[in-house]
Amino acid sequence: MYARGTDVPSARRLFDTMLIRTIVSHTAMVTCYAKAGDIELARQVFDEMPERDAVCWNALMDGYVRHGRPDDALTLFRGMLRSGVKPNEVTVVSVLAAISQLGSLETGKWVHSYARSSGIPFTVRLRTALVDMYCKCGSLQDACSVFDCIRDKDVVAWNSMIVGYAMHGKSLEALRVFSEMLKSKVQPTDITFIGVLNACSHAGLIKEGREFFSSMEKDHNIEPKIEHYGCIVDLLGRAGLLEEAYDLVRNMGIRPDPVLWGSLLASCRLHKNMSLGEKIADFLLTNGLSNSGTFVLLSNIYAALGKWEEVARIRRLMKESGIQKEPGCTSIEVDRTVYEFVAGDLSHPMSKEIYVMLEELNVLLRDRGYVSQTELVLHDLEEPEKQQVLAVHSEKLAICFGLISTEPGTTIKIFKNLRVCRDCHTVTKFVSKITGREIVMRDRSRFHHFVDGSCSCGDYW
Ligand code: ZN
Ligand code: ZN
Repeated sequence: MYARGTDVPSARRLFDTMLIRTIVSHTAMVTCYAKAGDIELARQVFDEMPERDAVCWNALMDGYVRHGRPDDALTLFRGMLRSGVKPNEVTVVSVLAAISQLGSLETGKWVHSYARSSGIPFTVRLRTALVDMYCKCGSLQDACSVFDCIRDKDVVAWNSMIVGYAMHGKSLEALRVFSEMLKSKVQPTDITFIGVLNACSHAGLIKEGREFFSSMEKDHNIEPKIEHYGCIVDLLGRAGLLEEAYDLVRNMGIRPDPVLWGSLLASCRLHKNMSLGEKIADFLLTNGLSNSGTFVLLSNIYAALGKWEEVARIRRLMKESGIQKEPGCTSIEVDRTVYEFVAGDLSHPMSKEIYVMLEELNVLLRDRGYVSQTELVLHDLEEPEKQQVLAVHSEKLAICFGLISTEPGTTIKIFKNLRVCRDCHTVTKFVSKITGREIVMRDRSRFHHFVDGSCSCGDYW
């Protein structure tokens, strides 16, 4: 009754009147609060408990994962190990989910070896959580070796590998796994198709993408959701089939969301189809359908058309509606410590060295013909200041820190909370060429593998 989480106050009242509170009732309260959204209260009840079993630890850990607080989940896991309560399969699955959010490969490997040494059974569910963690922490190789060991793969296991490959731009591998899945007679789900369509999109497989999309309903009885339309719009947009994508969005029978419009606008800009871009921009503005993401794109489109009055109008609109861009931040793990950078960050102890490295790189970049893409900066600034704003983006600082704090030749892995900007993407390509380092970047939508001056995304993301 408590765990339903719909009536928290009365559950609490009942709990307070109980004379003998058992672990079970405490745990029920922790679960109840964690699911009802009040993680602080869940923690409070947890702290009040005279003794705790694994179920209780798991309930709070799961709460932290759901609330996007992976650091707290990990700290809790360490506390659990110290307390002498033995973690079980549920604990490990939960802690792996936290690690996936953090993107910390080293911690992931540590938990993997912990699970091995502690005799926790390697169920399909646990192995799938490992596959997912390794994909999200940037190690496809480890993901594959775990995946290959799963006997009797269920649909969740297949999905994690398909989505993982697609996320890394390994389209053909994703489609190969998909066909193996069909051969083994496991029924795909809507998530399977997100992976499959993304794979087609990343590899520019238009014909296949269209076929898979229509087979969803026809052969598998799965109604496409907005995410699937998003993949198809991305696929068509990338190929320059903008009118077809636009028709699809207008006639799709589900209300398009800002993400979908954003993807279409980004394609218009990429293919320099400004007339369609403007048509969509006008439509969105007239109907009040813009959000922070589309505002930036709209402004870029009008700027490219030289329509400065419109650019000014959009900036005013952004100000009036109080829209602020979510601050970008990039993290990097060095020696099992995760460092976070924001734009212009000066808080790192090695800041001075980082900025020296950045300056050295800038000289090398300019020698090789790099020009900073200042049209991406929205502020009303003069050209040199705009260059300055771009130059200290968090991605660049994290990469510079990676360069000075790891051995030459080591792969640098960084994680960006938003989509990587075009300028940082260009710079990262140059850096991979100049330094001979492989750089793996996870951004909000996918992985980018930068090797020898080019990126696995083919400059489309
Ligand atoms: Zn940037
Ligand atoms: Zn890329």
